[in-house]
Amino acid sequence: MIVQGQNATSATADVPRRNWAGNVRYAARAFHRPTSTDELRRLVAGSTRIRAVGSGHSFNRFGDTDGDLVTLAGLPQAVDVDHERGQVTVSGAMRYGDVARQLHTQGYALANLASLPHISVAGAVATATHGSGQTHGNLASAVAGLELVTADGDLLRVDRDADGDTFAGMVVGLGALGLVTRVTLDVVPAFELRQYVSLDLDREALDEALGSAYSVSVFTDWRTPRLREVWRKQVADQPPPPADWLGTTAADAPRHPVLGMPPENCTPQLGEPGPWHERLPHFKLGFTPSSGDELQSEYHVARTAAADALAALDDVAHLIAPVLLVCELRTVAADELWLSPNHQRDSFVVHFTWIDDTAAVLPVVAAVEERLAPFVPRPHWGKVFVTDPAELATRYPRYADFAAQLTHLDPTGKFRTDLLDRYFPR
Ligand SMILES: Cc1cc2nc3c(=O)[nH]c(=O)nc-3n(C[C@H](O)[C@H](O)[C@H](O)COP(=O)(O)OP(=O)(O)OC[C@H]3O[C@@H](n4cnc5c(N)ncnc54)[C@H](O)[C@@H]3O)c2cc1C
Repeated sequence: MIVQGQNATSATADVPRRNWAGNVRYAARAFHRPTSTDELRRLVAGSTRIRAVGSGHSFNRFGDTDGDLVTLAGLPQAVDVDHERGQVTVSGAMRYGDVARQLHTQGYALANLASLPHISVAGAVATATHGSGQTHGNLASAVAGLELVTADGDLLRVDRDADGDTFAGMVVGLGALGLVTRVTLDVVPAFELRQYVSLDLDREALDEALGSAYSVSVFTDWRTPRLREVWRKQVADQPPPPADWLGTTAADAPRHPVLGMPPENCTPQLGEPGPWHERLPHFKLGFTPSSGDELQSEYHVARTAAADALAALDDVAHLIAPVLLVCELRTVAADELWLSPNHQRDSFVVHFTWIDDTAAVLPVVAAVEERLAPFVPRPHWGKVFVTDPAELATRYPRYADFAAQLTHLDPTGKFRTDLLDRYFPR
């Protein structure tokens, strides 16, 4: 089904015309919502320029196209558990939150989740979305298989065990290698967590804090060198932290990372035990995540460089603070995926939730990147960054291999976008 420009029918009215943040209005000439894989294959085969949109939670134009924009949300949804292999195969367009609920009822969990459950699996994996935890990889590192519609409309299945290195080059695919219809993920037995928030951490204790629980996020505002909040998601049967844990004080009421936003939007805190999928994300499904009126940027450096990277940013704290809603510090374990910001590097990740003002934010993003440059930062593929393409290429050992893979799988540039052409010139 094709609907041109404004004349959307009800079937395609729910294909987003702009991203969640509203800073990108998709330039597509037509919007599509196929209801079967065969319909999607015909659409791709007959299109000269096409992209998929997931839940639209990215902040840049990697996913924008002047051709056809297609949501896969109309394809049949499935959550198929393979008990023997400890894996689940899900429809790419499904939201993590919906997958998680269904998995949990069957006694399974995903090892980690992002801060919000609202994002689609295929869209999140394509940009190497991550949560936090020194021993947990990003969400793409849990992918064991992909099914995608390639440029000629064929259905291609790639598998971690059978396709080795090629597979490692395809998982974080930036939506440019094909449209992902199904994703196979590793699962673990379901587990319970408790979430505690501690206030006012000394920066000296950051490394210990980040390693102190299953998943830890630290929030700060760059107005003082001290770190405002530590959100610890700890395994439920571990004892609660002592009242003066690492010199902090325990929060006595639920918090929201963005000051002034309602804590009701957040997953339960104060040590109340609950299932993994209702504690790992900060935000509840069905509620607005974060502020809703914002831009985001994020940089991955080596975990061993954490203290030095923060010290380097101190020099531009006076620029950061006025345009910042909140800054989050996390960790992610290394993986082998070619375009993963965590490629062969245990990472410390500095995230900025900015005010919704592109003109005011971009110069600060440039200043942050300049200060972080000695630490070889890899920006989040789904957020705002201004890194020079030639420079970015030097930060990924397999960048050229990915560029070659792009040309091999999409010789006519069907899945290319202007931003992709900038970063991976033909
Ligand atoms: C409030 C908020 C909180 C966030 N928190 C985190 C966080 O905790 N950690 C983190 O790492 N990131 C976070 N992000 C960023 C977000 O997770 C990523 O931008 C992610 O890519 C969004 O997934 P999506 O489904 O919305 O993808 P989209 O934004 O819709 O698409 C992303 C890319 O994937 C491609 N794509 C989408 N679907 C498919 C498909 N089926 N086949 C092929 N390509 C496809 C698109 O073309 C595009 O290039 C956050 C974003 C917001 C708005």
